[in-house]
Amino acid sequence: MTTIFGKIIKRELPADIVYEDDHIIAIKDIAPLAPVHILIMPKKEIKNIQSVKPEDLPLLQEIFAVAQKLAEEHDVEESYRLLTNNGTEAGQTIFHLHFHLIGGERLGPMA
Ligand code: AMP
Repeated sequence: MTTIFGKIIKRELPADIVYEDDHIIAIKDIAPLAPVHILIMPKKEIKNIQSVKPEDLPLLQEIFAVAQKLAEEHDVEESYRLLTNNGTEAGQTIFHLHFHLIGGERLGPMA
């Protein structure tokens, strides 16, 4: 089922896009938890990390490379958090795989 992120990818909803290529898009989080809060995701509709299939693994490599690049561009390469929530109990609210890149201040504990 198409999510908010699916609609952003199809340009049916607006977003502050900070990176895009054929497979990956990165947008600023609408409710940032820190000065830098970017969501990096595959354009392919994958529900979450648990739904990643072997053929999707190259997308994860690409996402990690984009995270490194964006961390440098936003001057947080020394310290940042890259995380994904898998499932409702873990805090996932949008069921299109995405990684939060969070930084720019001293981050609190994980949970
Ligand atoms: P999660 O809770 O891990 O599924 O993360 C969903 C994230 O998407 C939250 O941090 C929201 O603030 C963010 N979010 C929701 N709607 C939008 C939107 N339209 N544009 C950008 N970020 C959004």
